[in-house]
Amino acid sequence: SKMVFYFGKTKTEGQGEGKQLLGGKGVNLAEMTRIGLPVPPGFTITTACCDSYYKNGKQLPKGLMDEVNEAVAILEKELDKKFGDDENPLLVSVRSGAAVSMPGMMNTILNLGLNDAATEGLAKATDNPRFAYDAYRRLINMYGDVVMGIDHEEFEHAFDKIKTKYKVDLDTDVPAEGLKELCEAYKAVFKKHGGEDFPQDPIHQLQLAIEAVFGSWNTERAVRYREIENIRGLLGTAVNVQSMVYGNMGDDSGTGVAFTRDPSSGQNKFFGEFLINAQGEDVVAGIRTPLPVIEMKKWNKAVHAELIAIKDKLESHYKDVQDIEFTIEKGKLYMLQTRDGKRTGIAAVKIAVDMVKEGLIDEKTAVLRIPAGDLTQCLLPSFIPAAKKKANVLATGLPASPGAAVGQLAFTAAEAKARAEAGESVLLIRKETSPEDVDGMHAAAGILTSTGGMTSHAAVVARGWGKCCVAGAGDVDINEKTKKITVNGKTYGVGDTLSLDGTSGEVMEGAVDRQEPKLGGDFGTVMEWADKYRTLGVRTNADTPEDSKRARAFGAEGIGLCRTEHMFFEGDRIGHMRAMILATTEEDRRKALAKLLPFQRKDFVGIFTAMKGLPVTVRLLDPPLHEFLPHEKAAQKEMAEALGISTAEVKKRAEQLHEMNPMLGHRGCRLSVTYPEILEMQVTAITEAAIACVNKKVDAKAEIMIPLVGTRAELSMLREKVEATIEATKAAKKFDGELDILIGTMIEIPRAALTADEVAQDADFFSFGTNDLTQMTFGYSRDDINTFLPDYLKQDILHGDPFQSLDTTGVGQLVEMGVKKGRSSKKGLKCGICGEHGGDPASIQFCHEVGLDYVSCSPFRVPIARLAAAQAAL
Ligand code: ADP
Ligand code: MG
Ligand code: MG
Repeated sequence: SKMVFYFGKTKTEGQGEGKQLLGGKGVNLAEMTRIGLPVPPGFTITTACCDSYYKNGKQLPKGLMDEVNEAVAILEKELDKKFGDDENPLLVSVRSGAAVSMPGMMNTILNLGLNDAATEGLAKATDNPRFAYDAYRRLINMYGDVVMGIDHEEFEHAFDKIKTKYKVDLDTDVPAEGLKELCEAYKAVFKKHGGEDFPQDPIHQLQLAIEAVFGSWNTERAVRYREIENIRGLLGTAVNVQSMVYGNMGDDSGTGVAFTRDPSSGQNKFFGEFLINAQGEDVVAGIRTPLPVIEMKKWNKAVHAELIAIKDKLESHYKDVQDIEFTIEKGKLYMLQTRDGKRTGIAAVKIAVDMVKEGLIDEKTAVLRIPAGDLTQCLLPSFIPAAKKKANVLATGLPASPGAAVGQLAFTAAEAKARAEAGESVLLIRKETSPEDVDGMHAAAGILTSTGGMTSHAAVVARGWGKCCVAGAGDVDINEKTKKITVNGKTYGVGDTLSLDGTSGEVMEGAVDRQEPKLGGDFGTVMEWADKYRTLGVRTNADTPEDSKRARAFGAEGIGLCRTEHMFFEGDRIGHMRAMILATTEEDRRKALAKLLPFQRKDFVGIFTAMKGLPVTVRLLDPPLHEFLPHEKAAQKEMAEALGISTAEVKKRAEQLHEMNPMLGHRGCRLSVTYPEILEMQVTAITEAAIACVNKKVDAKAEIMIPLVGTRAELSMLREKVEATIEATKAAKKFDGELDILIGTMIEIPRAALTADEVAQDADFFSFGTNDLTQMTFGYSRDDINTFLPDYLKQDILHGDPFQSLDTTGVGQLVEMGVKKGRSSKKGLKCGICGEHGGDPASIQFCHEVGLDYVSCSPFRVPIARLAAAQAAL
């Protein structure tokens, strides 16, 4: 099949071929050519060739170079230049480009096709020797770096010597003869470290460059980046070979990058940077400080106007924010790249709402476009304005990615990662980050750089993740060796805490107080749209009135899981709980339980009141009892004293309760079977709380959920006990109204799913406990999976952590079967999910498909679930 696709005036191939085959860059270069934008012509080698390259033991597929040569011939004809020509040489760039953008992870070589003779020819043809030598030195450097693996530093040293010799600081101030000398010096570096002369045959250069780009697909950092981003199933990178245009021809030339809107705030403001007399990476490398694109008006008004027109054309064509790269050669503008711009969650929301208002997209598209998981950023705290006023602002950098980060300083990526893993909140401090730093950047609470711009590596990557980043804070002097920063004459080190405001760019001393976010505005609009289109209900997992209130503010339509065991640890309660566990007779157990009852009742009144009018599913006690006992000697002694018994007795009971596999042990409904008085106490508390609410005219909607049921018999028996307890409580309270308490069960043991038609006959509702269900279906321990999960992911045995995203093929079958069978014996049985998966967008999609009534997730994930549910419905 076809391996090379041409784009240019002669023809533009590959329409309808997607990113999977041509890569994002390739598809968009062809598309921009097709809609008439000024794109230097070239051709794209498919990702399938990259795949074959690896499958063939790192050999280019047969016939590829023939197709490449044909395409080069068309290019030569179209541009009336010749590859390797001594007089008017065709030069190309060799650019990577996978289906998913991986900023800066792979390699690009510019000015390919130059050799000694062609450089002389180019100097003459352009009447610009300075430019020709500049192009050549860049090629030797990039080719040496990318193809031969020569350390960039080696070239830097040679450059520094020339700059010293000519007494200049900037690359652009080195005169032509200096650059000519530099080319000779670079060739010497190349020979010394590469072991051969710089190749003079352009086709040879091209072939090795193509191989090197394929090779860059599997560098450690690229592989790691794909792991973090969970990018899977790609064939590899495409290679784009494109004729060069020159931003380094003098002061009427330049190169730049821009976003059609502000990717950080989402404001509809054209946003970019450019550098005069520069090429390629110069803009992002931080060698010279680029100018904001608005300054271009003064430099070349016509080019600025054309760029604005192109920006508008691109937005209306792609109907999304674009991240573009352009070059100006002697006053003529060329487009070199466009792609959908990475943006923060906050920007995603604003842009989607604005674009609907502008008529560019409709509501449904807007809802589908916002990555549900990114909404977290809209829910993040910000600094309290009053606290900020008092804060000592040390420096102000660029507001590269919003957020309010507080942490201690870390100076290397490895250190940031290690300390974050140990539970510390750290800020990664770097002059500029590089793709090698992604691990540490990911782990850090925030990122601070001293040199980078708004489009620097740190800024782009942080925005992609929604991580707080302040870039280019030039007043911060970073000493990576001593692990200290100096700013305003003060020095801060590893143990010091700073606060970063990614929205304003401020760097502040100490930990500045933060506040919860406000949820109206564009965020509210998106949530309204989501609610309009979703059919799945969204509840929350909450055990306290505070969490319930927060979740309700986030839009939760009830509580899907209230875990009562959390209520047993607070304050004095644990003492009564332990007394209950240590009791040897039912009578003593009941005495201890009677002391716990008022606490439980009060908690439930609080929660029912916070959620008034909405259902609250209360799960009866679930964990094994030994979790409530102390296991250290000193603590056991303390407990013995408190209960007036001997330490030996405590120890004995703890040993008795010890189980080999506690998660498969005496827990869940099994506790209620052995100790029905625990169930009675809890149900009494729930019923009394419901009655108290009715008396206060609070609409309580209690649902009692029995955990870990595996057989219908367990549920039948316990249901009877629950019903009897409710009746007894009503009688004791002389209450004869309706309480409408539902009694249901969790489906979390495979057997319950397999026999759901039987179980359903005694259940008013099902709630799939997919944490335990996953654990028991795979036989993986939830608590120990990390001992082997990394190996499973690396070797692609699993594609993700099944406790994070529901295994729809396996565990999902049990959910689907449970719903079907349950509803076959009880029509319209209400079914929900309350495992961690309830807040995971991919799992929510599945829940929608199998017809669940609702998902339940932690309060902060409620808005995400609402949006994901709408996306599933559209
Ligand atoms: P990345 O994927 O890392 O952004 P690119 O392939 O986009 O790498 O190349 C980086 C930069 O090199 C581009 O932004 C552009 O400035 C420059 N460049 C690439 N190809 C050409 C070309 N044909 N002419 C001029 N400059 C180019
Ligand atoms: Mg690029
Ligand atoms: Mg469970």
